[in-house]
Amino acid sequence: MFMGERNVPVADNRVFVGVYVCRNCNSKIRVSNPKLLRLNKVKCRKCGSRVLRPKHKELRKLKA
Ligand SMILES: [Zn+2]
Repeated sequence: MFMGERNVPVADNRVFVGVYVCRNCNSKIRVSNPKLLRLNKVKCRKCGSRVLRPKHKELRKLKA
């Protein structure tokens, strides 16, 4: 009955919640603790950059 925009299962959604992408080298970074992200303590393992963007946002952009 609700087959519109809500057809993505919650479980699927959660997969991307903790995933960020390094803006410097585009490698994926999993952030299990959102607190660390807020404190800007999450570093890219490859290049050490702290400039990250959420992977989830990117997906939403592609869909729209
Ligand atoms: Zn990087």
